[in-house]
Amino acid sequence: AVTTTQKTVVLYPSLGVGHLNPMVELAKVFLRRGQAVVIAVVNPPDKDAVSADALGRLAAANTAITFSLIPVPSRGKDHHYPHPVMRTIDVLRAANPALREFLRTLPAVDALVVDMFCVDALDVAAGLGIPAYFFFASAVGDLAVMLHLPYYYPTAPSSFKDMGKTPLHFPGVPPIRALDMATTMRDRESETAKERLRQCARMPEATGILVNSFDWLEARALEAIRNGLCTPDRTMPPLYCIGPLVLPGGHTRGSNGERHPCIEWLDAQPDRSVVFLCFGSLGTFSAAQLRDIAHGLQNSGHRFLWVVRDPPEHKSSSISVEPDLEALLPESFSEKTSDRGFVVKNWAPQAEVLRHGAVGAFVTHCGWNSVLEGIVSGVPMIGWPLYAEQRLNKVHVVEEMKVGVAVEGYEEDLVKAEEVEAKVRLVMESEEGSKLRERIAMAKEMAADALKEGGSSDVAFDEFMKDLENDSSESRKKSFI
Ligand code: UDP
Repeated sequence: AVTTTQKTVVLYPSLGVGHLNPMVELAKVFLRRGQAVVIAVVNPPDKDAVSADALGRLAAANTAITFSLIPVPSRGKDHHYPHPVMRTIDVLRAANPALREFLRTLPAVDALVVDMFCVDALDVAAGLGIPAYFFFASAVGDLAVMLHLPYYYPTAPSSFKDMGKTPLHFPGVPPIRALDMATTMRDRESETAKERLRQCARMPEATGILVNSFDWLEARALEAIRNGLCTPDRTMPPLYCIGPLVLPGGHTRGSNGERHPCIEWLDAQPDRSVVFLCFGSLGTFSAAQLRDIAHGLQNSGHRFLWVVRDPPEHKSSSISVEPDLEALLPESFSEKTSDRGFVVKNWAPQAEVLRHGAVGAFVTHCGWNSVLEGIVSGVPMIGWPLYAEQRLNKVHVVEEMKVGVAVEGYEEDLVKAEEVEAKVRLVMESEEGSKLRERIAMAKEMAADALKEGGSSDVAFDEFMKDLENDSSESRKKSFI
């Protein structure tokens, strides 16, 4: 790694712990390279604040990082937003003056690193003469689509919601069916889509873009962006693939030092024999869907470890509500599968589970962190996208990286038990499953290589640090601070 003088880098994630966690992983990379890191956490008064507990835990586990809260004025309870993402953008925009004040209180700031929803913070950085970078915590393939959307969408024949399965063509990624585009983009006349397009169009304004991926995994998308195919009339800032940064998979222990019961259970299962089902921080299924998953697993005959949550129709908006498994799962399901199945309520230590040698397949909602955790663990995936940009990620995983398959019918009301069984059998038993396993074993190796000293992600971070040094001294010359 190159040595540079110590820099102070302020990381600025979007709302919620889901955005904070990847920034903490990024902070660790800066720290390993001797830089000083402050994470500025937006703290809205009503919803979406990172809980004091979660923040306290993160701060205790990462004492070298300074966590600072950025207050935001209340938006009023009755304010109606057409989509939750609009609320996020609005809250973040309202936080700009407080962010500015906060940055001014620091003795020195060499860089502001923001996540993809904090586009408006570019204005704060520009006003203070600080170089601003994005940390794009999703696929390069998603970035290619987002960068190209402002060019593509206005001239598309209609809104994506009216184009069904029509394949859309973006540079560097496989064809994407219109119905697999992010929900925020479905109606191009909507306020939400217009706002997102505005944000996408501003992304090239950053001084650089760090991406949580690695060159080998997404070479085509990377090349398309770098060659300007996604943004024909704009110069793209440098792109640095510095991943995969994922949650450490070390042994997570409870407050009394005990291991999670599901890990103890995995210890007793044969190698690569267990199908693991887990759907991100928010994923839930209807009671009817839970029953079909149960039947599918039962009929497959395979071992499984399944994270089950209360269905949304029960209106328990929080995963702290315990699902009533007796009532939700088919009668006699637990008796019939007790020798080969383990159900966890609400939350499992996913990163650790995936790294366990007993796991042979991962049924995932295709959140990017989950995809990367699957890759670094070498576990083939069965994609079942649910929300946000997960349908796009499914396309990358299945069509481009070829490290997984997807369940059919995820875009309809119900994925049938037979389909769950078929995909589990395909990955666990078939020739195609063996190919996926070989391919993901290779991806796992390439991920490890990328992170090694001299590997592509290590070198990209060196380059980023060198550029940062230049960018920040350039800015300082012009600075108003
Ligand atoms: N996760 C976990 N246990 C669970 C569900 C999720 O540890 O039961 C972790 C998972 O390992 C990942 C993160 O939560 O690091 C989910 O991130 P991802 O980007 O996959 O999905 P999101 O929650 O943002 O939809």
